[in-house]
Amino acid sequence: MQNRRKFIQTAFRGTLLTGVSLLGGFLIFRPVKGQFCGLDFNCERCDKSQSCSLPEAAHFRQTVWQLDPSKCIQCGRCATECVMTLSAVKCTHVYAMCGYCDLCGGYLKPDTKTISTAAENQLCPTNAIKRKFIEEPFFEYEIVEALCIGCGKCVKGCSAFGNGSLQLQVRHDRCVNCNQCSIARNCPAGAFSRVPASQPYLLKGIEQDSSSKPAKS
Ligand code: SF4
Ligand code: SF4
Ligand code: SF4
Repeated sequence: MQNRRKFIQTAFRGTLLTGVSLLGGFLIFRPVKGQFCGLDFNCERCDKSQSCSLPEAAHFRQTVWQLDPSKCIQCGRCATECVMTLSAVKCTHVYAMCGYCDLCGGYLKPDTKTISTAAENQLCPTNAIKRKFIEEPFFEYEIVEALCIGCGKCVKGCSAFGNGSLQLQVRHDRCVNCNQCSIARNCPAGAFSRVPASQPYLLKGIEQDSSSKPAKS
């Protein structure tokens, strides 16, 4: 009889504890309804997030899209998937990393016979890279941003044969910060993420600060 009572008490306590745990779990992980979308706090999916007064929406507004050059595999989609007619992704030159090479893998086609500025020797399909003689044997390469379509061909060449100083970045003077970045959705490398708007660039090889734009490109 005593054993039976003990068994019932133990079973009751077990049930109570399970119930309390489940309730706690529900309270912690329950879906929270958004003010406008009525689904959850996924501001990326909410087209009202720019005017929403919830703290989560405020956080969304304080972040921007950026791609991580160390993850990018230069697939070419940055040139074709952006909602802008001319992609908001551009090649950026980190001069601090550049070797100022004469034989630049980002500038010249790999099978080129002569090192010259002739259009047929240039890797860039839009002639967006300017080559300037500095002193023997060094040359400077400058990106003409208005011509760059963000195809990443020069980035691939520079990574394969040079120091990796050419890198793709979302330029925030062009990007309209879509709720759902269509490049991010199609990026095969998962290179896109939202970063603080106060530090909007993710360049390799230089210390990031709060400047709104990388220097000189
Ligand atoms: S879509 Fe992704 S992998 Fe392709 S070029 Fe852009 S960042 Fe790189
Ligand atoms: S090769 Fe492509 S990414 Fe590089 S400068 Fe030219 S258009 Fe821009
Ligand atoms: S957020 Fe929009 S404008 Fe910006 S890079 Fe992505 S698709 Fe282009």
